[in-house]
Amino acid sequence: MGNCYDVIVAGGGTAGTAAAIAASRRNHKVLLIEEQNCLGGTSTSGGVGEWFASLEGTGNIFDAVVAGLEKFGARFAKPRHFNPEVLKSVWQFMAEEAGVQILFHSSVCGAECSEHALSRIEIASCSRLFSAEAKFFVDATGEGDLSVLAGAQFMQGEPDTRKVLHMSLVAWMYDTGTLQTPYLPASLEPVRSREELPGLGAGVLVDRNRVYLNATKVLDHDPTDPWSLSDAEREARHQLLRVVHYLQTHEYPTFALASSGARIGIREGRRIIGDYVLARSDILDRREPLDFEDGVAVATSQIDFHSLKKTGNSGWRQAVLPYSIPLRCMLAKGFANLAVAGKCISVDQVVHSSCRMTPTCCAMGQAAGTVAALATEQGVVDLRDVPISSLRQTLNADGMELNPARHTGFAPHDTRLDADDYVGT
Ligand SMILES: Cc1cc2nc3c(=O)[nH]c(=O)nc-3n(C[C@H](O)[C@H](O)[C@H](O)COP(=O)(O)OP(=O)(O)OC[C@H]3O[C@@H](n4cnc5c(N)ncnc54)[C@H](O)[C@@H]3O)c2cc1C
Repeated sequence: MGNCYDVIVAGGGTAGTAAAIAASRRNHKVLLIEEQNCLGGTSTSGGVGEWFASLEGTGNIFDAVVAGLEKFGARFAKPRHFNPEVLKSVWQFMAEEAGVQILFHSSVCGAECSEHALSRIEIASCSRLFSAEAKFFVDATGEGDLSVLAGAQFMQGEPDTRKVLHMSLVAWMYDTGTLQTPYLPASLEPVRSREELPGLGAGVLVDRNRVYLNATKVLDHDPTDPWSLSDAEREARHQLLRVVHYLQTHEYPTFALASSGARIGIREGRRIIGDYVLARSDILDRREPLDFEDGVAVATSQIDFHSLKKTGNSGWRQAVLPYSIPLRCMLAKGFANLAVAGKCISVDQVVHSSCRMTPTCCAMGQAAGTVAALATEQGVVDLRDVPISSLRQTLNADGMELNPARHTGFAPHDTRLDADDYVGT
């Protein structure tokens, strides 16, 4: 059976690639399915070149990513920034070395279940539909596509309004060394001041000749609705032209646009309901770090909740002590063989704003791939039957510090909750 695997991972972003590597390097047959032409997702094809969490104790897959970028000279003078273009190669080499079978240009578009387990998935690619089977699946599609296709329950956005954090088309500029002639189509309004710039970090000089634009702010769109997503891309492109025009006119007269994300950056889509939903009441205002017996990754970033209403850089930013992410948040409720990793795990919207960061997604991916690998080795049919001690020992041996008290929280900003920023209760 050519299309039968031990583990199928849907989505080759940070979490999915880490999951596939973790399972494949233990000699399991692993298929990694990715819609785009490269691995790394938001942090490569999305252009997001910054880590916003503690970088230590995150597992040997994340360590290898950092080391790989260093070998290529692809970390910038600002040490949390890196070159997403190079990261594509780093991830690909790591996946190839681990023996992962990679399927690019392919979308998971259907799922078949029997007796509370996922058995087969449908894949669309090159105008063809075909299927593949596996013992275990990892949904790392960012928006939880595979789980939803299988019939899993999910949450989205703020409970009443379903509003999600804004989307951004991230971009990069480079220094041409000669004065540019800024141009803005007449239909677009020029940005007049830095305060009017849409988004967060428009124009961060990360190296001598390179500027990072974590810019554009598309509010009130739904990344899981094709029409709304498409509309968001159009609006973001308009905003990007206005941002570049402003920067060329006011701050970087010799810089030109180098690249923008192959797809708009989606901070928040669906969150798949697992055996447990980690809530903000679990993680806020604690005296000591939150630990769980089934903790399989540690989140270290502050709450980073961009305002759902206001443009610009406003939002709720608050330090939290490092906290465990329990395996229960990564097991799709009602499914024996479906793990979820990355930004679509089972947490509420506020926790999501903290645990969605790239290093944390990498750790979750490593945990999801490892639990699927151990389940295969131990001959169990339900991921819940893998003894948690063996999973945690394996992760520990693979460089993951699972005790949140041994992590350092990451909280560079503090702009406490403003009633206008968060519409939830
Ligand atoms: C604009 C923006 C700025 C950010 N800034 C930072 C920052 O400064 N620091 C930080 O640490 N984090 C930041 N984040 C958060 C972080 O980048 C993401 O949360 C993280 O990279 C998500 O990783 P993931 O693997 O869960 O999902 P993704 O990286 O989104 O990967 C999902 C992958 O699945 C693929 N896919 C989707 N659906 C399917 C399907 N049906 N079939 C096959 N493949 C599919 C996608 O193509 C993608 O490659 C930012 C996010 C955004 C959007």
